[in-house]
Amino acid sequence: MSREQNWANNYTFKAAHIHRPDSLDELRGLVARLSKVRAIGARHSFNGIADSPDDLIDLSAFDPHFVTDAPQQTVTVSAATTYTELVAYLQTSGWALHNMASLPHISIAGAISTGTHGSGDTNGTLSTAVAGLEFVASTGDLVQIRRGNADFDGIVVGLGAFGIITRITLDIQPRFEIRQDAFADLPWAALLDSFDEIMSAAYSVSVLTRWSGKTVDRVWLKTRLTNERTADIPEARWGAVPALHPYIGDKHAEGCQLTEFGVPGPWSQRLPHVQSAAGAGANDQIQSEYMVPRHVARVAFGKLRAIGAAIDSHLIATEIRTVMGDSLWLSPCYGHDTVAIHFTWKSEPEPVHAITSKIEDTLLPLGGRPHWGKLIHADARQLARLYPRLHHFRDLVRTYDPAGKFRNEFLDKHVFGEAE
Ligand SMILES: Cc1cc2nc3c(=O)[nH]c(=O)nc-3n(C[C@H](O)[C@H](O)[C@H](O)COP(=O)(O)OP(=O)(O)OC[C@H]3O[C@@H](n4cnc5c(N)ncnc54)[C@H](O)[C@@H]3O)c2cc1C
Repeated sequence: MSREQNWANNYTFKAAHIHRPDSLDELRGLVARLSKVRAIGARHSFNGIADSPDDLIDLSAFDPHFVTDAPQQTVTVSAATTYTELVAYLQTSGWALHNMASLPHISIAGAISTGTHGSGDTNGTLSTAVAGLEFVASTGDLVQIRRGNADFDGIVVGLGAFGIITRITLDIQPRFEIRQDAFADLPWAALLDSFDEIMSAAYSVSVLTRWSGKTVDRVWLKTRLTNERTADIPEARWGAVPALHPYIGDKHAEGCQLTEFGVPGPWSQRLPHVQSAAGAGANDQIQSEYMVPRHVARVAFGKLRAIGAAIDSHLIATEIRTVMGDSLWLSPCYGHDTVAIHFTWKSEPEPVHAITSKIEDTLLPLGGRPHWGKLIHADARQLARLYPRLHHFRDLVRTYDPAGKFRNEFLDKHVFGEAE
């Protein structure tokens, strides 16, 4: 039997069966009956986090079943709904999310389970928008949990370890408009000197670059427009020059609506880098990412620039973003504001393995936490030093899933420390 692969084709699932229930009763029966099972989302993670030794459950046959609560400013939706589907619904009904990842093709459950994030000094990860969750626990029982409940902060960035999430309630806000502008060739010295000013120059700011030059390649500003004031076009301060689009080279410009730069448009089309209709872009790539405490970002940049030539030989592009700190135990932004340093690599597994190990050796001692959905080398012992609540998380998982029904190799290695 041919096995299923993830989006990037760099991971082949070991699970022998993928079940596709279309009702809650069928799902509960499956979970109660199976001995090793996990949920799979849109398969956009670059590692085996979603895998199971036996069975997987794909909930994409569930109807999204959108329910908006206007007074509470929330929307409740089926877990496997993609952001593509959700933003289309919200946009037409006058609502918005606070932020988006670079692409909308991922599922809501998959994104919030790994602490997926966008950018913005005042924007938390997508998981911070979760106001409530409903999941099928190991017994087949349905559990509901809301923000403010005792276990909530431990369960939201849950890595699929607590059960199969069926419904998610997210905070929403009235829809808004965004205008994008791009600048090229910002001197590294200016980024280092004016980092806070540059990263706060718009609602969401991304710096796209390689590491061995004297300048960063692009600064991408997404300015939130208000009713009161149309923001001025940000001038090319700091020595950067206006650019037509934010991408380095042409390859990953696919999906980016270049003509819409400088033109205000709906949040749903401007916050993700890649548009819904465009497909998720070229999948011959591997990604890794580290969330470093914001106060050490300049030190981290210096260390990465020192090995910049080695990085650049295998790199497509780095994206630097800021994310607000939060209180979710396994969020890479737990406890402090964060700078996310992302790497899109060429699809060259062996050299990428070597250079990402070197980067991890550089960033972990600075407090850099790896993105749960991307390439990770660190084991549970190393990660326990970075996540102060990791031992609480293990205890909570054991409470909800004493027999380890939802455990897999990824959790054994990176969370529980029971790897081979
Ligand atoms: C091209 C590309 C761009 C990306 N851009 C960003 C970005 O901008 N920012 C960022 O932070 N990350 C980014 N990522 C990473 C991506 O957001 C994460 O890997 C995310 O977890 C993928 O979601 P998914 O729906 O594919 O879930 P999967 O990869 O299928 O699963 C991820 C985890 O969610 C769990 N899960 C899924 N569904 C359920 C459920 N119903 N119940 C319980 N657990 C569940 C799985 O068990 C697994 O542990 C990107 C990835 C790609 C491929």
